[in-house]
Amino acid sequence: MAFFRETATVVAPARPGAAHSADHPHLLANYARAPITIARGEGCELIDTTGKRYLDLVAGIAVCALGHAHPRITAAIAAQAATLVQASNLFHHEPSGMLANELAERSGLERVFFCNSGTEANEAAIKLARKLQYRRGRTDQRTILSCTGSFHGRTYGALAATANTKYHEGFEPIPERFAYTPFNDVAALEAALDETVAAFIVEPVQGESGVKPATHEFLAAARRRCDATGALLIFDEIQAGMGRLGTLFAFQTAGVRPDLVTMAKALANGLPIGAVLIDSAAASGLQPGDHGATFGGSPVPCAAAMEHLRIRDDSAFDAHVVAVGARLRAGLDAIAADRPDVFAPARGIGLMLGLPVREPFSAASFVGPARDGEGLLINAAGDNTLRFVPPLIITAAQIGDALARLRRTFARTLAAGT
Ligand SMILES: *Cc1c(COP(=O)(O)O)cnc(C)c1O
Repeated sequence: MAFFRETATVVAPARPGAAHSADHPHLLANYARAPITIARGEGCELIDTTGKRYLDLVAGIAVCALGHAHPRITAAIAAQAATLVQASNLFHHEPSGMLANELAERSGLERVFFCNSGTEANEAAIKLARKLQYRRGRTDQRTILSCTGSFHGRTYGALAATANTKYHEGFEPIPERFAYTPFNDVAALEAALDETVAAFIVEPVQGESGVKPATHEFLAAARRRCDATGALLIFDEIQAGMGRLGTLFAFQTAGVRPDLVTMAKALANGLPIGAVLIDSAAASGLQPGDHGATFGGSPVPCAAAMEHLRIRDDSAFDAHVVAVGARLRAGLDAIAADRPDVFAPARGIGLMLGLPVREPFSAASFVGPARDGEGLLINAAGDNTLRFVPPLIITAAQIGDALARLRRTFARTLAAGT
C-alpha cells in the first residue's frame, strides 16, 4: 500500500564526519544518546548528517505512525501554522473542537481533555479520578492502583503510578496513596481493587517494561471490580493506541471498555499532544478552574491529529497493520527458533512487538551493531527485550529487509562473542 508517496525533497547539505555530542555540549546529559545526529526523515527512513540512511523500527518511540515527513501531515501543519497557532483556552477554536468530536465519536467516550504529552494526560486522568470521587462524597476513595512493570510517565503523579522504583530513587517523597498490583494476576487484582481505590490505571500492552500484553481476563476483571466499587478504569493507550495494535484504540483489541483513555505519542504523528478521553459518567470530575494547560489542544497539533485520522480513513490501515505485524512476528519467532539459547518467542500485538533476550545475552548489546553495521534502528526496552514499534506504514518488503538486517546483526554480534 502506498501510504507514503515519494516527493522531491530538498536535501539539506550533509556535514561529512560531523561529530555528535561534542557538537552539542550544552544539552543536559539526562539521555544516553546514540552517537549519530539525525538530519531528516522520509517515510520509514531516517537520514543522519553524514547522509547515511537508517531503516527506522523505533519511529520516535512509537510516535511516527505514518512515518517521517508524511506529505499530508506536513501540509496540514503548514496550513494550520499559517492560520492560527495559539489562541489559549479562553476561547473556542475549531481544530481542538473538531478533534474532540472525532475522538469522542470513534471511541464512544464523550468528553476530551487535551494537553501536551503522555505524562500530562495521565496526570490529568489521576487528578480527575480523585476529584470525581471527592465530588461524589467518596472521600475515602483516594488510592491510585497500577500494575507492576507499568510505565505512566515522569511527573510526580504519573511517576508515583509507575511501579518501578528505579524511576523513584532519589526523587522522594513520592506522592501518597499509590499502590501496585501484580500485572495479569486476576486474584491479586480482585483483592487490591477495593473501596479505597479511586482509579485503576493499566496499559493494555505494557511498553517500557518489554512489550507485555494484558490478558483479556485481567482487563475484564478490572472492569468488573471497578463497576462494583465505583473506581475508574483508566487505560493508558499512550503507546498501544492510535492503530498500533490493529485497531484505532487499544481497548477495541482488548474487548473491554474503560472509563478513561489516555493518548499521546502517535496522535499527531510527531507533534506534542496528549489527550484524555472521558466517559460521560466521569466527565463532571473536572470543572472550570480544576485543571488546565496553556498549550493544551493548541491548533497545530490538533490539525495534524485530524489529518492523521483522515489518512487512516482513506486506507485499509488496520488490516495492513495486522498483516505486516504478523509477518514481523513470524520472522522474529523464526529467529528465536534458530537460537533458542539467545531468544525467547516474540511477544506483543500488531506492530507493537518485543523479542525477549535470554541471560547472559543482552538486548542492548545488539542496538549499536544494528545501527552502525546494518543501518537499522531498534531499541532495547525493559526486561532484556528488543522492542519493535516501526511506522505503521511499513511495507511487507521493508519488514523482510529489516528481518534480514536483524539476522545479520545477531549472527555478527554473537560470533564476536557478547
Ligand atoms: C511514553 C509513555 C508515557 C509518557 O509519555 P510522555 O509523552 O513521554 O510524557 C506514558 N505511558 C506510556 C504507556 C508510554 O508509553
